[in-house]
This record gives sequence, structure tokens and C-alpha cells, in this order.
Amino acid sequence: MSNTSRLQAISQITTREPMKVTMTDRLGKIWADDVFNLARMEWALSKNAFKAVKKTVQTGEPLDAATADVVAAAMKEWAVSKGCKFFSHIFYPMTNVTAEKHDGFIITTSDGNAITEFTGSLLIKGEPDGSSFPNGSIRMTNAARGYTAWDPTSPAYVMETDNGATLMIPCVFMSWTGEALDKKIPLLRSNDAMNKAAQKVLSLMGETEIAPLNSSCGAEQEYFLVDAAFANTRPDLLLAGRTLFGAPSAKGQEFDDHYFGAIPARVQVFMQDFEDKLYRLGIPAKTHHNEVAPGQFEIAPYFEAANVAADHQQLMMTLLKSTAKKHGFVCLLHEKPFAGINGSGKHVNWSVGNATQGNLLDPGSTPHENLNFLLFCGAVIRGVHKYGPLLRAVIASAGNDHRLGANEAPPAILSVYLGDQLEKVFQDIKDGKVTTHEHGGEMDLGLDQILKFERDPGDRNRTSPFAFTGNRFEFRAVGSAQSVSGPLVAMNTMLADSLNWIAGKLESELNGGADKAAAVVTVLKELMSEHGNAVFGGDGYSTDWHEMAVKERGLKNIPTTADALPALREESVKKLFADTGVLSPVELESRFEVYAEQYVLSIEVEAKLVIDMAKTSIYPAAMSYLSGLAKTGKRMAKLKIDLDNSTAETVAAEVNAMMSAVDKLCEALEKEDFASTEEHMQFCANDIRGLMDEVRAHADTLEAEVSDELWPLPKYQEMLFIK
Ligand code: ADP
Ligand code: MG
Repeated sequence: MSNTSRLQAISQITTREPMKVTMTDRLGKIWADDVFNLARMEWALSKNAFKAVKKTVQTGEPLDAATADVVAAAMKEWAVSKGCKFFSHIFYPMTNVTAEKHDGFIITTSDGNAITEFTGSLLIKGEPDGSSFPNGSIRMTNAARGYTAWDPTSPAYVMETDNGATLMIPCVFMSWTGEALDKKIPLLRSNDAMNKAAQKVLSLMGETEIAPLNSSCGAEQEYFLVDAAFANTRPDLLLAGRTLFGAPSAKGQEFDDHYFGAIPARVQVFMQDFEDKLYRLGIPAKTHHNEVAPGQFEIAPYFEAANVAADHQQLMMTLLKSTAKKHGFVCLLHEKPFAGINGSGKHVNWSVGNATQGNLLDPGSTPHENLNFLLFCGAVIRGVHKYGPLLRAVIASAGNDHRLGANEAPPAILSVYLGDQLEKVFQDIKDGKVTTHEHGGEMDLGLDQILKFERDPGDRNRTSPFAFTGNRFEFRAVGSAQSVSGPLVAMNTMLADSLNWIAGKLESELNGGADKAAAVVTVLKELMSEHGNAVFGGDGYSTDWHEMAVKERGLKNIPTTADALPALREESVKKLFADTGVLSPVELESRFEVYAEQYVLSIEVEAKLVIDMAKTSIYPAAMSYLSGLAKTGKRMAKLKIDLDNSTAETVAAEVNAMMSAVDKLCEALEKEDFASTEEHMQFCANDIRGLMDEVRAHADTLEAEVSDELWPLPKYQEMLFIK
């Protein structure tokens, strides 16, 4: 039988026991136990050294060499006491992965002894070989090298694996010429740009004490768990992270019985193990539950400063995978592992605020706070409208293309959902219906409606890609496998640009003698008449909206990554990043090239897998079945028994059609002469993907025809329902 490995997997799974639940230590004991945080530094360092490092942590200013040595020594002492022999600079190249380079603390002395050493310069600077990471068009002049540098705003920690403990130092990664080669540098710069612009607006609004502003991020991560025994017999799951074949399961998600249902015991044990690891690393895991699809789950940590949250998010993705493996699962972070079943996203909750004015996307409880809120909220509306294609570009990936616009995830049209009340306020401002009147010495916009704003309206619009949710925006179109940095950089930068624009307008209104409230209304009125088209409260899935958005609102529907990435080459986007100092034109162009290359490569890898699996697994299974049918047919004919041949005919026709599509796909993959990267991406999006779908359609029909005992690949219903 050709389905032996599938049957073995099934039998292995039926007898699997959940891993033992161990009683874990209480939260207070394990919380951040593996993190070299400020509290630990205060304990380990002299008063002066701590003061210096604290300033660096809070402001990102460089550390002087002497203090760096002291901090490094204390860090090493602590790490060695936790069993570390190695340290690693950890950084985030332009791909969505995390990169590490491990070095020993060891040095040998002249008398042959080994001691441990870690100096300030080793802490602050490392030199991984930059040439092995994609850098787009950035050709480093003297050497193809890059270097990593400690980002003190993200704490070092100890990572324990089965291979031992390592001190991990979060770093930026740049070329010798100073260009960003990673996802962290632009995030730090975008925070800076947003802070500067926000300071201008707030001081125009009469604030005298303004603490540095930072952006925050709380990312909800969706993922699938599949039993490792099944995943290991599916090369598509192992290599592409999604099924490239598979007929729909008889039972899918139509009963809606999985969402918020009881979590299977094995998964619960996995989650507890995973969350304990997160707590040790100071990652505030807050909620977990089943998601819509069978086998799909979600984890959401409490929000943190965007830079730290982004590092933690990367760490969570790494730990999800490694912990799943330990529990006999494979964790799929792909946006669409199973066709016809809901995919996975990563909702990025984002806000900006500081210690003096608080969360600026919170309406607040006084008219004055309301005014600040309206300006910041207006700035977001303008940003989404003006830079919609950029927001689409930063969430573009081969995986996310399967999800966006597929009636389960937000459409590929960028609009903002504000909720009924807030939408009405902005509409009234636009229509000139908002009048200002004196109120307790301060101008009031008649915004009683906002003061009573419901924090968490129950009828949250789940069809919008970008939704206001009471005190933050939720970017819901981000893909589950993506780094949150790209979206955060885009949001911070567009906000900086809008706040700069607002500051200019506000200043001239105020200089012209307008009072604050009147100036705010005038500026927002202009903003809404130019950018109000991005505000949409209706059903984002409906075809009416798709038509109206494009025809009446002038918004763009950008279905694929091939259509989306060229936005990074648009003049307005180049100018945005250059003016705010977040990315130079060279850095931006290198990002376009890296992302485009990743897109093309991932589709080509999938296409090769499609060819391979069709030829070596599916074709032989169908042919065995066919040969059995043919033999039986012949025997029946000899016995003069009338047998209907239509199944054999169907199978033969499908096999022929599948193999002819495979041939066409092979031929398409040979093509090399592309005039531009854009053309190459379009070829992948249309021709290659089209042919892959064609092969799959025939293969999936065969799966429904061919005898179960010959079918080599675990089926959807087997993989999706975890036992
Ligand atoms: P839901 O599934 O209803 O969207 P969750 O509670 O699962 O809500 O997730 C909400 C996420 O938003 C959490 O990570 C939460 O910490 C985060 N969040 C709350 N307030 C803010 C804020 N001001 N800035 C950023 N994220 C926030
Ligand atoms: Mg959410």
C-alpha cells in the first residue's frame, strides 16, 4: 500500500498522550527571571554606572566606554551564574526572520587556563558577516560586512534551549557606511520622527511639560498546530509552511464550534509550557483561545513599547515553533496553511503616548484632552488616506496574498473604521456643523458625544483593515508570519508626516488670531475634506464597497504583493521617508529589492514543490488506482459482466490534465528574461500562481476519486482535527 506513512502517522497520533502537566512556579517567582532588566542592573551596578545606563535605556543615547565595560562585566557575571557559556548578538534582517551569532565568553590565559571575559566593546559592537544577509542594492564600499550594535532600550536576556543557555543581546544591524540593514533601525527612527512631530503639535496646543513620546504595540498572533506525525509526511507543510494540495474536509469550520470552544488537552499543556517560557523572558502573555478554524489558536500579550514589543514578537514566533516541536506539533505561522479554511493574521494594536499627556489616542475626559485626541486621530485618518498604498505594501507577502480580500480577512483596500460616534464627529466637522462655545474657561467643541464615548463598542467592525478600538488603532491586515516592525514603521512615519502637516496649519491659524478650539476645527475640516474618503464604517467584505471605494472614493484595491510593493518606489513614499529621516532613498530601494526577491523566491519554491509532489506522490497514487481499475475492468469484461468505466475515465482525464499543467508550470519556471523586477513579480503572481492552481485543482479532484488506501498525503480532516 502506498499510504503506509500516512497510516503510521494516524496510529502514532491515536496513541499519543498529552505531555505531563507540571505544576509551575507562581508568576511572581518566574516573571522576567531570565531578563537583565533595569531592576537587575540597579542591584548589580554602582550608583553612577546605573544612572548612566538608565539614561541610555530611557533615551537610547550611547553609553561611554567605561560604563559599557562595567555593564558588560555585570551582565556576564549574571549570565554565567545562569549557566551561560556563550553570548549572542541577536538582530532582525530585512527578511522576517531573527538572526543570531554566538560567541563564547571563553578566553585562554598564557598558563593554559580558560576564563570568561566580556568587555564593553563586545557588548556594544559585533561583526557578523553581513554578506550572507540580503541587503538589496546596498553595496558596502570597503567590505561586504555589516555590524551589530546593542540596542539598550531592549533588555538582554538568557535563552535556554536543550543545547544550553545563551546570553542574548538585542541589536541593530547596519552596514559600515551606516545604512540600515535591519527592521529595528527604521523602527527606532520612526519613533523619533513621530516624537518630534508630536512635540510640535502638543506645544502649539499649549502643553508646557511634554515627556518624550513613544509608540506602543500589542500584537495578537494567530497560528495553527498540526500533529508533527502528519506534518512530517507533507513536504509542502515542512518546506512552504502551507498545503499546496488538499481536497476540502467534509467538516470544516461551518459549525463555528471551534471559536472560543474548549481548548484540547494537549494544546493546553503546550500553551502553559509556552507561556511559562514567555513569563521568564518578561513577555506579558495575556490571553489565549481557539480561533475560528479547527486547529487554529491565538495568543495576545499585553501591549508594550513598540520596539520592545517587536523584539518580543519575534521571540514569540521562535518559541511557538520550538515549543510546539517539543509537544509533538508543528506550529504553522503561514497566513493560509489550508485552502478554504480561515487563515491567520496578526492584529497590530498601536497607539502613541507619553508620561505627561498619556495615551493620545484616548479621547480622555476633558474638552482639552478631546482636542488633542481629535488632532492625533485626524492625523491617522490623513495618513491612512495619503499613504494607503504604503500600508498595503508593508503587509505584502506571498503568504498574506492568500488571505487579504478573501472574505475572511480585511480587503486589500485600505480604509479606516472609526465607529459610529466618532465617525459622526469627524463628519460633522467636515460638514461645518461643529460650533465652538465657551465651557468652564476653555473652548468646547460641543463634544459631549466623545466624552461619553463607549470604550469598547460591542459591534466591533471585523471587516475593516484599520479600526479604531476605543483607545488605539488596530491594523488587522498584517500577516501572521510577518514581523510587526514594517507596519509599525509605516504607522509611526505616516503619523509623523501628518502631525508635521497639522503643526504647520495649526501654527498659521493661531498666528492669525484664532483661538485653539477654532484652529483645531479649521485644520480638521480641511483635513477631512481632503482625506475623509478613507473613513468607512460599512461592510468591508461587500462587493458594493469594493466598487464604491475605487470608483467614488478614489481608493486603491491592491490585490497582490506584485501590485503592492512598487509603492515603495513612488516619489511620495520616498519623500515621506526621506523628510522624516526614517529611511534614505537608498535604504528604501534596498527594501523594495529584498522584499521583491523574497516574494519571487517563495513562489518559485512553492512551484517547484507543486511539480515534485504532483509527479512523485500524486501521479503514482492515481496510476496505481487506475491500473487496479483497468485490471478489474478487463476481468469483468472476460466474465461478460457489465461494469461502468466512468471512474477510470475521470481519473485518466484528471491525470492527463494534471500532468499537462505540470509541464506548463515547468516551462514557465524556465523563463528568465524579465525586463524589470516588477515584471518578474507580475509573472509570478499571474502565470506561475495560475498554473500552480491549475495543477492543484486536478490533484484535489483526484484525491476525491482515488482509493483512500492509496492516498499518500494526510488529508485535511486528519490534519485539522487535533486529538
Ligand atoms: P481583541 O481580540 O478584542 O482585539 P485582545 O484583548 O485580544 O482584543 O487584544 C487587544 C490587544 O491590544 C492586547 O495586546 C492589548 O494589550 C492591546 N492594547 C490595549 N491597549 C493598547 C494601547 N494603548 N496600545 C497598543 N496596544 C494596546
Ligand atoms: Mg483584535
